[in-house]
Amino acid sequence: MSLSLSMPAPAVMPAPGDAPPALRHLLGIRGLTRSQAEALLAEARSWKAARAGRLQALSRRPLAGRRIVTVFYEPSTRTMTSFHVAAAALGAEAVDLPVSRSSVQKGERLDDTLETLESLGADAVVLRHPQTGAAHYAARHLSIPVINGGDGTGEHPTQALTDALTILERRGRVAGLKVAILGDIRHSRVARSNALLLELLGAEVWLSGPAAALPPAGAFGGARVTLNRDEALEGADVVMALRVQRERQARGLLPPPGAYRSRWGLDARDLERCSPDVVLLHPGPVNRDVEVDGRLLEDPRCAVLQQVANGVAVRMAVLHTLLGQGGGRSWSTCSSAAGW
Ligand code: ASP
Repeated sequence: MSLSLSMPAPAVMPAPGDAPPALRHLLGIRGLTRSQAEALLAEARSWKAARAGRLQALSRRPLAGRRIVTVFYEPSTRTMTSFHVAAAALGAEAVDLPVSRSSVQKGERLDDTLETLESLGADAVVLRHPQTGAAHYAARHLSIPVINGGDGTGEHPTQALTDALTILERRGRVAGLKVAILGDIRHSRVARSNALLLELLGAEVWLSGPAAALPPAGAFGGARVTLNRDEALEGADVVMALRVQRERQARGLLPPPGAYRSRWGLDARDLERCSPDVVLLHPGPVNRDVEVDGRLLEDPRCAVLQQVANGVAVRMAVLHTLLGQGGGRSWSTCSSAAGW
């Protein structure tokens, strides 16, 4: 397992020049350029190093006085908490709208809720919503940056950036790797954002799952889709297992947990088909012994907790890119991104 990176870690300080096009919102990986994605990943690595070394870049509290509001219409552990931790690390204030105790329960419309939050002084909104396209809708109604924290079966861009950072750290590169994403692909916003991002960064992406969980052709970029799980696993450098999205599908579309496990659950024997230094990912929450054999979660090839830790650095990069250094202007210390 290689921990060395093929590009030098960028400096912590923002540097002008070679900046990719400015980002105003982060609504999805679709629409992001490769240079924007690489800049976010480079910045995430900088913030991770800064946090580890308690460097000055953080003691200056670059987002002091800014207020981020999380608005989650669906449950979350990792995404919401990591946005709050990231905001605090940058000196910003993070406030959560408790949707189940808000005027949403009195029938308030999404645009009215969001416009209220903007009027209350929010500088950015992180939105999770069961409806696909909700973040795009929010961006049309707000003049502050909107970050998609997961919209229905649409996208989950910060999860994909987190996963790409984890692959970079474990394998030193993304380009040229074979990545197998397994399980309930069709209903997974994580799968879509990952397929799009990893392809953008030069990986070969394979998608495999039960027939009812496979996406229509082309819905996930140029990823290869197969019913043959072994074909997807063969020689894979990265394997990502997904949670079955039972909340997004008709009852009985996919097998119940026991049957799913015996046909689609991943175990140590499956990893033998993969590259010897395969990296096992899962976006969480993991249903132990359903998508993944619980013992694999303790295996050194499993990077699930590294993904979680990287989620903070990625969300710092996203918040700082959208809100730091003159608002919507993005900066890059990663002009030499060759090798990704
Ligand atoms: N936490 C991820 C999401 O919200 C994955 C999942 O829930 O299965 O999309």
